[in-house]
Amino acid sequence: LWNFLKEKFKESLSKVSYDTWIESASPIRITDNNIIIEVPSSLHKEYWENNLATRIVENIYEYSSREISPLFVIKNEQDTPANGNNVLRNEVPKKTLFKRDIQLNTKYTFDTFVIGKGNQMAHAAALVVAEEPGTIYNPLFFYGGVGLGKTHLMHAIGHQMLLLNPDARVKYVSSETFANDFINSIQNKTQEKFRNEYRSVDLLLVDDIQFFADKEGTQEEFFHTFNALYDDRKQIVLTSDRLPNEIPKLQERLVSRFAWGLSVDITPPDLETRIAILRKKANAERLEIPGDTLSYIAGQIDSNIRELEGALVRVQAYAAIESRDITTSLAADALKSMLPSAKPSTLTILDIQNAVSKYYQLSIADLKGKKRIKSIVLPRQIAMYLSRELTSNSLPKIGAEFGGKDHTTVIHAYEKIVHALSTDDQLKQELADIKKKLS
Ligand code: ADP
Ligand code: MG
Repeated sequence: LWNFLKEKFKESLSKVSYDTWIESASPIRITDNNIIIEVPSSLHKEYWENNLATRIVENIYEYSSREISPLFVIKNEQDTPANGNNVLRNEVPKKTLFKRDIQLNTKYTFDTFVIGKGNQMAHAAALVVAEEPGTIYNPLFFYGGVGLGKTHLMHAIGHQMLLLNPDARVKYVSSETFANDFINSIQNKTQEKFRNEYRSVDLLLVDDIQFFADKEGTQEEFFHTFNALYDDRKQIVLTSDRLPNEIPKLQERLVSRFAWGLSVDITPPDLETRIAILRKKANAERLEIPGDTLSYIAGQIDSNIRELEGALVRVQAYAAIESRDITTSLAADALKSMLPSAKPSTLTILDIQNAVSKYYQLSIADLKGKKRIKSIVLPRQIAMYLSRELTSNSLPKIGAEFGGKDHTTVIHAYEKIVHALSTDDQLKQELADIKKKLS
């Protein structure tokens, strides 16, 4: 049975995940209702519980038509001879207490992070820091707009560091938590404890430090925390929505210290990355969504990844309420109310047709016509693609404006271009030129 389960996980997980999570686990025993699995750390346990437990139930059912749920125990924590007893113990062992306390979101790992143009530098720097903390980029500073993955990457560093070194002390806080902890420590006269807590970590992650603006006392305290950790060669990772020198009222000495390490910006994801993120999300949620629908959603929501996820949730909920399968037209219905504000464009399909036909020196009639010559088909597909990207017209409407074509033709054209864009740099350039003419 265990080999069967391992095979199943091998099929569905990446190699890194498989090696990290599955290889390190082993079955201890199986009862009528439970399978008891031993894992190396509380982090592993959480991961199994959150991500793999339901799949185990399903796979065992597939294997033996029995309903058996998994229970997880952490290796070397049992002090009673009968392994099964540990499962019932409520008390959290001391060693894992700290890790439980750090509030890392188990979903925010390197595994679930999709790499694209806008974040690949940040991702690479994050990996380096997780593997060699305190030595190369210290502090590491991520900046960029909301919903682009700064917090996700920060948590991923924490997880990865704990994986490599389960004894590492990792602390994640928002800048507000840091400020509140500091103020409380003054009120409760527990400054000593506060300092011990913040200055004894191996990795300190402080999120959204733009909120330090205007907090003089907190900045002062953070300055000392920073110095203590830095001198001890402990890793510091910070995020903000902008560069340190653009944060109003941030003390100059903090600005200059933050510049000692590496600052990396994260920019909004391009269409391909957005599609990849949606696909990964959909897989994780086990949603069956056709490729063209994923492309459609990714084409509609281009501002940030949190909104992209929101759109997926909305589509999913809408499908459930309407008891319909998820298709592009369902997605269009579900997202309708979100879209007007997301697309304030005044461009018309005709504007796009004019620009494209001029660029490729074709007649509008050819662009809208049925000729299948390559030199016409590609511009036609580009015009359809742009109509979908840059206007809020529905697919059927776009089809109609192209000589009465079916909406599936528009989807096909769109997908073709999306696909070609991932490899064809010349096409990318041409599209950029046309877009420039349109704006
Ligand atoms: P920020 O901190 O920059 O505002 P978050 O890290 O909170 O953004 O990201 C917002 C959401 O988008 C989170 O649910 C996160 O998991 C997801 N997300 C961001 N970037 C990526 C990515 N590259 N791959 C997968 N999910 C991502
Ligand atoms: Mg954040």
